[in-house]
Amino acid sequence: MYADVILPLPLPGIFTYAVPLEFQDKVGIGYRVVVQFGNRKIYTALVRKIHGDAGESRNFKDILSVLDNEPLVSEWQFRFWDWMASYYMCTTGEVMNAALPSAFKLASETRVAINPDYSIDSVPLNEKEFSLVETLYNGKKSIEISRISRIIDQQKIIPVIKTLIEKGVIILEEEVREKYRPKKEIYVRLHDSYSGDESALKDLFDRLELRAKKQLEILMTFIQISGHGFEHIHEVKKDDLLKKSGCSAAVFDSMIKKGVLEVYEKLAIKPKSGTTGSNPDSILLTDSQKRAIAEIRDAWTAKDVVLLHGVTSSGKTEIYIKLINETIEQGKQVLYLLPEIALTTQIINRLRKYFGDRVGIYHSRFNESERADVWKQASLNRESPGGRNSCDIILGARSAVFLPFVNLGLVIVDEEHDSSFKQMDPAPRYNGRDAALFLAHLHGAKALLGSATPAIESYYNAKQGKYALVELPERFGEMELPLIQLVNIKDELRRGRMKTHFSTTLLDQLTEALKNREQAILFQNRRGFSLRLECESCNWMPSCKNCDVTLVYHKKGNQLRCHYCGYVTSVPSLCPVCHSPGIKMKGFGTEKVEEELGILLPEARIARMDLDTTRSKHAHQNIITSFEELKIDILVGTQMVTKGLDFDHVSTVCILNADNMLSFPDFRSEERSFQLMAQVSGRSGRKKKRGTVIIQTYNPAHPIIQSVVKNNYTGMYGYQLAERRKFKYPPFYRLILLKVKHRNADLVNRAASELAKKLTRVFGNRILGPEYPPVARIMNQYLKHVLIKVEVESSVLSAKSRLLEILGEFYQKQEFHPVKVLIDVDPQ
Ligand code: ADP
Ligand code: ZN
Ligand code: ZN
Repeated sequence: MYADVILPLPLPGIFTYAVPLEFQDKVGIGYRVVVQFGNRKIYTALVRKIHGDAGESRNFKDILSVLDNEPLVSEWQFRFWDWMASYYMCTTGEVMNAALPSAFKLASETRVAINPDYSIDSVPLNEKEFSLVETLYNGKKSIEISRISRIIDQQKIIPVIKTLIEKGVIILEEEVREKYRPKKEIYVRLHDSYSGDESALKDLFDRLELRAKKQLEILMTFIQISGHGFEHIHEVKKDDLLKKSGCSAAVFDSMIKKGVLEVYEKLAIKPKSGTTGSNPDSILLTDSQKRAIAEIRDAWTAKDVVLLHGVTSSGKTEIYIKLINETIEQGKQVLYLLPEIALTTQIINRLRKYFGDRVGIYHSRFNESERADVWKQASLNRESPGGRNSCDIILGARSAVFLPFVNLGLVIVDEEHDSSFKQMDPAPRYNGRDAALFLAHLHGAKALLGSATPAIESYYNAKQGKYALVELPERFGEMELPLIQLVNIKDELRRGRMKTHFSTTLLDQLTEALKNREQAILFQNRRGFSLRLECESCNWMPSCKNCDVTLVYHKKGNQLRCHYCGYVTSVPSLCPVCHSPGIKMKGFGTEKVEEELGILLPEARIARMDLDTTRSKHAHQNIITSFEELKIDILVGTQMVTKGLDFDHVSTVCILNADNMLSFPDFRSEERSFQLMAQVSGRSGRKKKRGTVIIQTYNPAHPIIQSVVKNNYTGMYGYQLAERRKFKYPPFYRLILLKVKHRNADLVNRAASELAKKLTRVFGNRILGPEYPPVARIMNQYLKHVLIKVEVESSVLSAKSRLLEILGEFYQKQEFHPVKVLIDVDPQ
């Protein structure tokens, strides 16, 4: 008996192993098995086929063990994987790697450690397990599985590790690194020497009365809010104390130094969700929402995919909630895809309000055991035994398309235009939206794409009748779309109305908003402090030693950083070329915006949301919650602040520099700029009164900026479509991008030329390049691009197989063996 297995590796083909007698009635298709591959390496593989045909060869290695007693992956999942591998031109092993949570695919290189929550003796262990746990305890840090197998001489180590993970005794390394960091708050209490000692406290009062009025103020406030007279002094939140006493942090600190007060951290108490299970029927849809939902239901009788084009704050989420409810009432599952983690925080709460714990969440910020858990839940049918507590609504980022749904009825892709649905690296370089549509198709489920600014491709598909189109042009509550004001930076500079990066118009508007206790969002699409440094006398600019980009200055840490490879270096005081001290900062990022605004509007509470401030697991959530709770007045951020967020008190939105995104060299940059500007504008004036948007630009007449001002999506669409037709881009042509990559620049040049030449022989003028991409070296790898444009009417399938043939020929040349050619189908 033989098993063909998929290995989680970027290797083409399927691998055959022999099934020893002892496993023959224990293994089946979709089961995980442990196999040896290469000299010493062991991997978790997936059985794709079982057969008795050894072919010519007879020395297959044995399967070492079987990890499951039922299939982990079902037949239709394999079909989904096969589609993905073929459409995105990668191996099934790469798809497997993306699809399975790491907890399911242990390999020699996997590192494990003792679970910090595990206490000895709490779980009974057998002898093998015990010796492994002992080894880990002695090793302290995490250990590679391959090392453990040497230490305790256990060939079949993975099954033991698997059980220990399931028992919660050990965890995978990823979890060690991204340790769960719950939100903490700083509390204040009276120092021991005063608490409970009334006379000491009275002495203190007298002393402060004489010499330190401000400190007395804090102490009085403390006593006032913490308790009931001197006897019951408890604790107070530091934030509350400072706010109520109106004293500065410096005064507070001096009382800590003196030993009057002391501070400590406590877990923030989450407000009880309590409301779980409100009935979705209690949502009263507006007339236009009712019409839209009726149109969607109606469209689904004829077509599988509906595009819901609804302006920002039109109440698309309420429509989703109704449709989700209908679907789960039929006993079917729902997949709700979002482009970014930043967005899920709010949607989780909105969905949980109605569906409670029926909502399961799946994205990369979740640790491996949480992900493995959601995986298991998605494979259960709620109606089946044991399925009663399963989640039938899955909210997730793109990787949620890989979950083992058993009865999928509806797929919702929210913010469908968003380019972060696309996985860049590693393969499979799939678009979560498009994969979700194929998934829906496989399951015979209905699909709903939603956006205020649909992707050109999606709107085109709708106009062509491939999807149904439903429009929702009014905002909820009869709110008007915000008033958009353009500020010409050039004029403002001439008239002396710019204070650093802020126009007087903007500052006045912000001051007004603060006065009215309204909030503001400021958008700048780059992070860091200044985007580059430049020598005034010779124009030298510090650049990355590994990549062809200039380094970004970060004030926090006073460092220059590469945003491509993470390289960090210090700031030179003299120009290394001409030794002049005149090094100037050019361009500005969110960090600088935050700092300068703090100086211009000292009373405003400002926070920043970008990659740098949201690295830890709960950082997004903390910022969003603080903003919702009105603890922040102005939120400064990168595109993270533009998407889908729903805040009631935001009256003002500002785009600090609209031009740098428009000038990006890409055929989608105009479309993207429109989407970004329209989306961020849409955060303004959602509930209370009409909002204001200020767009600062050097180029107010730019057609894209004009279409944002007029909220003219269809105008923008018509214009972009004509350009796409003229210059042969999607939706009229499909693109396949080849990235040729190696450490040696010459080799890359030769390889790319050779590849382009071979391709041109077959594809003619459908080949563009080779060309240097905007960043032509990343992490010391040189890059060159070759682009293939295929007419949509022609067979993309045959184009792909020709491409693979040509790549095969290309690699026959010894010289090109070390060169990597990455294939990106439908690049974003
Ligand atoms: P979109 O996703 O279209 O930008 P949302 O779904 O976030 O808009 O809706 C905007 C706001 O209006 C939300 O705060 C939402 O709760 C509220 N809203 C929309 N429709 C209704 C309704 N029918 N009843 C009550 N509130 C609604
Ligand atoms: Zn110089
Ligand atoms: Zn770099």
